[in-house]
Amino acid sequence: MGGLYLGIDVGTGGVRACAIDPQAGIRGFASIALPAPRVDGNAIDQTPELWWQAAIAAIRKLGETVPLGDVTRIVVDGTSGTLLLVDAAGRPCSPGLMYNDARATHEAARVAAIAPLESGAHGASSALAKLLYLQNDGYVGDARHAVHQADWIAGRLANHHGISDENNALKLGYDPVARAWPSWLDQLGVRDDLLPEVLVPGTPFSEMDPQIARSLGLPATAHVAAGTTDGVAAFIATRADQPGDAVTSLGTTLVVKQLATQPIFAADQGVYSHRLGERWLAGGASNSGGAALLLHFTADEMERLTPQVEPDAPTGLDYYPLPKPGERFPIADPGLAARITPRPAEDCRFFQGLLEGIASVEALAYRQLARLGAPRLRRVIGIGGGAKNDAWTRIRHRVLGVPVSVAEQTEASYGAALLALNGGPP
Ligand code: ADP
Repeated sequence: MGGLYLGIDVGTGGVRACAIDPQAGIRGFASIALPAPRVDGNAIDQTPELWWQAAIAAIRKLGETVPLGDVTRIVVDGTSGTLLLVDAAGRPCSPGLMYNDARATHEAARVAAIAPLESGAHGASSALAKLLYLQNDGYVGDARHAVHQADWIAGRLANHHGISDENNALKLGYDPVARAWPSWLDQLGVRDDLLPEVLVPGTPFSEMDPQIARSLGLPATAHVAAGTTDGVAAFIATRADQPGDAVTSLGTTLVVKQLATQPIFAADQGVYSHRLGERWLAGGASNSGGAALLLHFTADEMERLTPQVEPDAPTGLDYYPLPKPGERFPIADPGLAARITPRPAEDCRFFQGLLEGIASVEALAYRQLARLGAPRLRRVIGIGGGAKNDAWTRIRHRVLGVPVSVAEQTEASYGAALLALNGGPP
């Protein structure tokens, strides 16, 4: 069977488009930068039209190297928590309040008083706090739908608005366990006619708008399917697809995500789960990670010290590296102090001790997810700046006791394209 599958990632810095074939092979990528959003204190917003212009420009650019006439399905992912109001025709009635917009502090306090602890709608940058803000600020007028960034781009491609997915809807208060909008939203005065219809990510919901299809060189018979968030799309891109498969991000912080067969929530530790069909993507973030390394070594120094690291000869230093006091997961302790003494005389020993310490935090994080109900860890795929360090990968393999690899792909647009190919989660 032929056909191409298109993933569009509306990310923080730009829009990226990816086309794959039925074997999940990448046929092409194209990207278009987005300007920085407007920042005014806690308020961070952008004109949604800019996302649309970048999205169609990325598709056109992809069309220079890929036969777009073969596309059969399209999935869009976007930044999680980015929200706007649109009218019945999909025209914006508000600015796009960006994922990191935190102006809705008053509304967040109202949500906190009513929403269950495990709801994804907590916090001033949640989509729910933003919706209440927009309702109170008089933006409703002609508004018919509250939609996320990805929903809106997919909605425009299809000329069919008011559709979201179980991942984007999490921060708007959607209950992924009950698969419903919860009744406590009424107590907050949420206008339930604005709430989008929520589908499983990857579910086709409409053919393309014929005019837009023609202008982009896409077939009008191509289907637009429900999307996901950029974070979930990036997870899918790593090809982790079995319960027990995990992805560790070794960036500024240490973030672990694991595919589970049941939802896992521990609000006090910031552990929550996205629904992926009948599976769950559980995740938690530790403050340990790359920032704790950068306190002691520059990236160049790390590069220089790495050949001297001896992964098979553990230092026994038993560190818990943190950039500053305080930890949430896998240990919930706002006052937890870093443990990085004694410091050996040789820099390479100290560096190895830090790498081993972060690997131990990673192992503890997976043990904690297992205690909360995650399946037995099967394999770990690494992403982020630290994942490329081979010596660290070998240390992590020893400490974690399962195969550890580096992700071949981390592009969210590729994850979105995989959703399009599968017509649902992996
Ligand atoms: P983020 O996207 O969170 O800013 P990155 O994924 O770009 O982070 O990773 C940056 C981190 O990678 C830095 O905090 C740094 O400590 C870490 N890092 C850079 N080089 C190395 C290295 N050679 N070995 C281990 N960690 C490294």
